[in-house]
Amino acid sequence: MAKYTRSGRLQQIPPYLFAEISKKIEQAKNKGVDVISLGIGDPDMPTPKHIIAELERAANDPKNHQYPDYEGMLAFREAVVAWYKKRHNVALDPVSEVLALIGSKEGSLHLSLAFVNPGDYVLVPNPCYTPYRTSTILANGMVCDLPLLEANGFLPQLDRINRDICKRAKILYLSYPNNPTTAVANVEFYKEVVDFAKDKGIIVCSDNPYSEIAFDGYKPLSFLEVPGAKDVGVEFNSLSKPYNMTGWRIGMAVGNPEIISAMATVKNNVDSGVFNAVQYAAITALLKTPDSQIDHLNSIYQKRRDLVYDTFTSVGIRVRKPKATFYMWCKTPNGHTCAGFAAHLLEKAGVVVTPGAAYGSYGEGYFRISLTVPDARLAEAMDRIKKAMSK
Ligand SMILES: *Cc1c(COP(=O)(O)O)cnc(C)c1O
Repeated sequence: MAKYTRSGRLQQIPPYLFAEISKKIEQAKNKGVDVISLGIGDPDMPTPKHIIAELERAANDPKNHQYPDYEGMLAFREAVVAWYKKRHNVALDPVSEVLALIGSKEGSLHLSLAFVNPGDYVLVPNPCYTPYRTSTILANGMVCDLPLLEANGFLPQLDRINRDICKRAKILYLSYPNNPTTAVANVEFYKEVVDFAKDKGIIVCSDNPYSEIAFDGYKPLSFLEVPGAKDVGVEFNSLSKPYNMTGWRIGMAVGNPEIISAMATVKNNVDSGVFNAVQYAAITALLKTPDSQIDHLNSIYQKRRDLVYDTFTSVGIRVRKPKATFYMWCKTPNGHTCAGFAAHLLEKAGVVVTPGAAYGSYGEGYFRISLTVPDARLAEAMDRIKKAMSK
């Protein structure tokens, strides 16, 4: 018996998805299986050297050993502005429209704490990256699921949302290129989103950490590229994925100054910002990384994507060929449930995949694999899956 009763909020949080997977991996490893995990999306390649060198330099400067400004150094925010201008032709004010985050994951909690009252709704895609849902719960908000269906290109149907719920909704989450479905959004969709948000007075949060991970010449959009977007929302982006910096914890929220200011007030009362040396390294990443380095990273993911696509197609697993993200969203074959098929692959092939329902009920019937494992391990995983599927 626990001595201390957890808050109702916490009791509503489902077990962290990867905690469950980790347990299963542990069990298989204890049995001596050489487990290959395609479960977690965490780049396998190191942070580029010029970024590490800048961290070293900045860490050696005692000026950086003191508390940072909680909203981020002006130089970091200016680098974000320059990057958005160059990459998306979006104009931002560094002082009022940019906020440094300790990784973009924490942004959804700040946003919820800033705007959601008990009983307010948050419009959350299903399936989705789990923090949109859990941060809503932590703020005592109510989740309204927006089904992402393959037939609609995994875009939510905004005109299908219950009117009474729309009246009580504060935030709409979107994330394209999408984790886990790998779908992408176009300008027409974002225009519809802006009109919807204006009409209903709902804040749009576009979570865009995969904007740089794309293939075949495709360039993902920023939501803020669409006219009127800054009137209704913010975008999160992150250094984690394009620069192999998941462990460094740095990202940003940009856009509507009123929303940014409210998030900053929450942050000011929760943490004291990002280590300045990490911010200097991030400035270097944003401004000094040659495009060719990102292109090279994407070419590696693209080769892995093609290997998985060819393998899965040859064994009868239906899979989307993604234009962006380092995931593959696959149909579970032969009437398997997603959890059943994931367990089957772990048992028969020693390969870990994520059951789609871990991202929400509409993920049932799918599983996700991540391309962030070294080439040789991925090839080995594909061999094993091929054998397991042909038995
Ligand atoms: C990886 C990821 C993030 C980013 O995370 P950081 O906290 O910046 O490391 C945010 N959203 C989605 C959908 C992701 O997949």
